[in-house]
Amino acid sequence: LNQIYTPLNQVASLYRDTMRNLVDTEQLADLLNEEKDIVDRPDSKELVVAEGAKIEFDNVKFSYDGKKDIIKGISFSIEPGQSVALVGPSGGGKSTIMRLLYRFYDVTEGSIKVNGLDIRDASQTSLRRAIGLVPQESVLFNETVRFNIAYAAAHNGGVNLTEEAIIEAAKSAAIHDKIMTFPAQYETRVGERGQRLSGGEKQRVAIARVILKNPPVLLLDEATSALDTTNERAIQARLRELSQGRTTLAIAHRLSTIVDSDIIHCLDEGEIVESGSHSELLAKGGVYAELWQKQIEGQEGGLASGAATPKTG
Ligand code: ATP
Repeated sequence: LNQIYTPLNQVASLYRDTMRNLVDTEQLADLLNEEKDIVDRPDSKELVVAEGAKIEFDNVKFSYDGKKDIIKGISFSIEPGQSVALVGPSGGGKSTIMRLLYRFYDVTEGSIKVNGLDIRDASQTSLRRAIGLVPQESVLFNETVRFNIAYAAAHNGGVNLTEEAIIEAAKSAAIHDKIMTFPAQYETRVGERGQRLSGGEKQRVAIARVILKNPPVLLLDEATSALDTTNERAIQARLRELSQGRTTLAIAHRLSTIVDSDIIHCLDEGEIVESGSHSELLAKGGVYAELWQKQIEGQEGGLASGAATPKTG
């Protein structure tokens, strides 16, 4: 276990930076430059999620620069165990909503509550303990495979950190067999100075990490590209399994991945313009139906040209 905890201390700040990264690695630099550190309130409470998490956004407004509202008064809730998806054009505010829930930033107006507790009143550790992230592009530490799988759970107080659990999580994320082909297996260094992993393999390591962490809340940001179709289908299927029984908020670019969501919110310019299940939204014949139609047409064109499925944002 020391193997896990020692580098953990060393990478505490890197960890924070990675978490801050959340969904788009391209924006990492910008986000880091911003350094808007959120601090716990002196009387902050521990968020305890015993039996499922209910998430409530109540008239949430948010501005990055204090001038332009990027989120313009959004309200929605996710019941314990429900899966909710955010879709819509690029720049609509999907990633921002996730960042707010993870509390990289505090809302400008309104509130976000988890099981009735305003997340500004919760300690960040307890909030983040409850949440597992599967980002679009997974960042791996320049550390061993074992470390990369274990660090989120290690951060979580070390629950589940047995050798068996780590291997079990890797198997469950369908990355174990691959790891066994590496020169030093679980002790193999990955990342820039070590074994190079493909986008899909990194994603699987990230999934293994979340499986091991076992959080009640899942934030999924669907990869826009990078994975080949077979890999991607397998990963999507694994994510769907993982979200069973957990409160899940997913950002979707390919609508086909979220058709089973309990509720889909279409976000445009910081507002929810349409909400409902896939079939309700199709029947409505609005923005979502249009996006769906475009993707189907794109897919047909894509199949002919051998291109990947098109995305909305
Ligand atoms: P995409 O589908 O392309 O990922 P999105 O719906 O997730 O888009 P956001 O990333 O939430 O959209 O961005 C919403 C708006 O906020 C955009 O106009 C974006 O330029 C702006 N924005 C995002 N991050 C920052 C930031 N760190 N500072 C300032 N503005 C930002």
